[in-house]
Amino acid sequence: MHTAAVIPPPRTYHSKRMRIHLFCLLVFIALPFFDIIRFDIPKQRFFFAGQELWINEFAIIFFAIMFLMFSIAAASMLYGRVYCSYLCPQMIFSEASLRLEDRIKRFVTKRFIQLSPGKRTWLSRALFYAALLVGSTFLAFVFISYFVEPRDLLRRLLSFDIVTAGGFAGAVTTIFTFVDFAFVRTRFCTTVCPYGYLQGMLSDKQTLLVAYRDGVAKDKACIECGKCVRICHMGIDIRKSPFQIECIHCGECVEACDAVLARLKKPGLIHYTWGEKGEELSASGQGWLKRLGLRDAKRFAVMAVMLCYAGGLTVALSMRQQVQVRINADRTVLYRTNAAGEVTNTFRLQIENRGSEPAEVRIDLEGLPQAHVILSQNPLRIAAGSEYQGTFDVAVPPDAPAPGVNHFQLRSQALPKGEPQAYKMTFIAPQRKP
Ligand code: SF4
Ligand code: SF4
Repeated sequence: MHTAAVIPPPRTYHSKRMRIHLFCLLVFIALPFFDIIRFDIPKQRFFFAGQELWINEFAIIFFAIMFLMFSIAAASMLYGRVYCSYLCPQMIFSEASLRLEDRIKRFVTKRFIQLSPGKRTWLSRALFYAALLVGSTFLAFVFISYFVEPRDLLRRLLSFDIVTAGGFAGAVTTIFTFVDFAFVRTRFCTTVCPYGYLQGMLSDKQTLLVAYRDGVAKDKACIECGKCVRICHMGIDIRKSPFQIECIHCGECVEACDAVLARLKKPGLIHYTWGEKGEELSASGQGWLKRLGLRDAKRFAVMAVMLCYAGGLTVALSMRQQVQVRINADRTVLYRTNAAGEVTNTFRLQIENRGSEPAEVRIDLEGLPQAHVILSQNPLRIAAGSEYQGTFDVAVPPDAPAPGVNHFQLRSQALPKGEPQAYKMTFIAPQRKP
């Protein structure tokens, strides 16, 4: 008995992408507001995962950026342009702008049917630009919040400040955002963005891509409906080649073709496949480890470098000290005699409290008989996120130290928690008169 071929239901990538786009938008807004990722230029601080990093903690910032870059490279090698189609802000907002324009056009056509086509076009444009201006101002505000504290920025925005650097940057970014999402949109991806070209270097025979596979089965045949071309935001025809630099592997054409041919009880002709000739994503039977393809030298190298940066980041974060103390000898004058007749040497003290709680730092010494530390307060109280720079003296009765160089140790202790630190120092005393 003949049984009809089972046609799989049309695959749905559009709704999944839209949900991910919405999630990414919320993440994009939340990151600077909750200090998950924010580079505060006025304060010269880098906020990462709730930690306030100082600009001189370059190792952590470096490892974090490199890890992120290699993660994107590794994802591109395995899953093609998944970043472009699912996560890139330029793509998310370009598509949102296209949808907004389309909806406004349909709204005006429906509600203002009595107007002439020319007037409807004019009204649609005006409404679209007005809505886009509001959206661009909001996006520019969020973007600048990555570099300026959001509450401070809001205050500048509400007072129409375009004089200070933050306010001026916000105004310029608003204009760029408006022009970008009104006129440039996905053209940015094919002209300015280097990522598409980079993808060409990263992909290999196993990388996930979108391919047209007419003629693989007898009951498949393109009906030339052109839906796959019309739906493509990048303006290409996937049937020509799966390696077009414009293709961002979004899967919209896969879904469109499935939907068209399902009505004719035929399977779709466009698929996500592992390489041009590899198996289809929906039929993927390989385990994830095999799919990683680590026998390939390039894949292995990228993954290994990514893991090295992840390791470096973990080590750098675990070694991070909340309170950083530096002590150096001030040798502009070798020694002095104070009002009490003691011999003194001066030392420079720098304390950075990188934590979110106030801290106290006590300075003391050992190995120099009868010596004591002269500091305005000891322990010194340092507010959260602030820095102290100053000097203190080590004083010794005039007959106590040996003439010349005396070796001793200064010690710092951060309270309530913090490891004690020791600093090898020298105390210089005058030669005694015979
Ligand atoms: S060809 Fe298909 S997968 Fe590629 S960008 Fe266009 S719609 Fe997306
Ligand atoms: S949507 Fe499918 S059937 Fe229609 S033109 Fe594209 S490949 Fe051919």
